[in-house]
Amino acid sequence: MGNYYKKKIISAAAPVLSGLQLHRLFAPFYAGIGQILMLHRVVAEEGQVRIHNHQSLEISPEQFESTLNFYRNKGYRFVSMDQVYEILKSGKTSRPFVAITFDDGYRDNYTTAYPILKKHRIPFTIYITNCIPDRSIILWWYLLEDLVRAQSSISFQWKKNHYSFSCHSPIEKEQAFEKIRTLINQELTKDHERDLLKAIFGHFTDDLYYYSKTIGMNWEEINTLCRDPLATIGAHTVNHRSLRQLEADELAYEIMVSREQIEKQIGRTVEHFAYPFGKASEASLREFQLIKSLGFKTAVTTRMGNIFPAHHRHLECLPRININKASRTEVLQLQSSGMLPCLYHLGKKIVTD
Ligand SMILES: [Zn+2]
Repeated sequence: MGNYYKKKIISAAAPVLSGLQLHRLFAPFYAGIGQILMLHRVVAEEGQVRIHNHQSLEISPEQFESTLNFYRNKGYRFVSMDQVYEILKSGKTSRPFVAITFDDGYRDNYTTAYPILKKHRIPFTIYITNCIPDRSIILWWYLLEDLVRAQSSISFQWKKNHYSFSCHSPIEKEQAFEKIRTLINQELTKDHERDLLKAIFGHFTDDLYYYSKTIGMNWEEINTLCRDPLATIGAHTVNHRSLRQLEADELAYEIMVSREQIEKQIGRTVEHFAYPFGKASEASLREFQLIKSLGFKTAVTTRMGNIFPAHHRHLECLPRININKASRTEVLQLQSSGMLPCLYHLGKKIVTD
């Protein structure tokens, strides 16, 4: 079963499961000692039909604040990624913790999420992919959402192959988004990035860089954030590529240069990392070993999971809980009790691969 359908079923079943209070039975065994929350964007709702997979990157400011309140009311302690590292190293924590993390470096993290976090004095980490503040990335996943939303069919030519996707119904749009996303991740290399994206989006837009200019943070904003001790800046590679597709030298470049350039820009050391995309097909053992050898304190994936003391042996691949529009109170309850991760991974507790 695809992740899309798995998540749809979980989301639909959450109120029933939550009502049955079954999560209380799971909590003693599956809640673990804490959670690392994964967010991307905090933005007001548009009122338009969205691509589910893409919408999973967003939450409204109101829901973001109520999510923070959920954890506060449950007695969780808000911690930085440095504190997650300390807790796992020492094996000591007096009460469950929650760490707030954002991927990529979207401007709304600064304009919308930061004021809320500051008001509540909550530490947070933003994993920057350098090409966003450098304005050298084509945020193709936003273009892709616009494309499938606007068109009823999509066709393009790539490497002598003709690709064609029907996009009439919402489900066809979801499927086209997922198939083209997979194709781009498989085919994208530094050398022919522009050619590939031009082949797909060229007829649709004449500014492939529109989104990086409008929704990405710049270095000045990142530096302002850095002055607040609540903020931690982590690395998220130079070009946000799917790491498993890369040759060893490209992989090392993506990670090492990312860290080096951020350190130069912000004038402090970068000790935490997030894998781009982060599914098993996009980051695995080779990537984990490299991150470990480079001396990062922690690295996070996009695999769903709570944190257990045994994760002290897996600091280079810590799972997270994705927080988005679907993360209503009942879903948060099932996640924090460990029930959802347990069902999702068929009973497996220590999610690493
Ligand atoms: Zn990312």
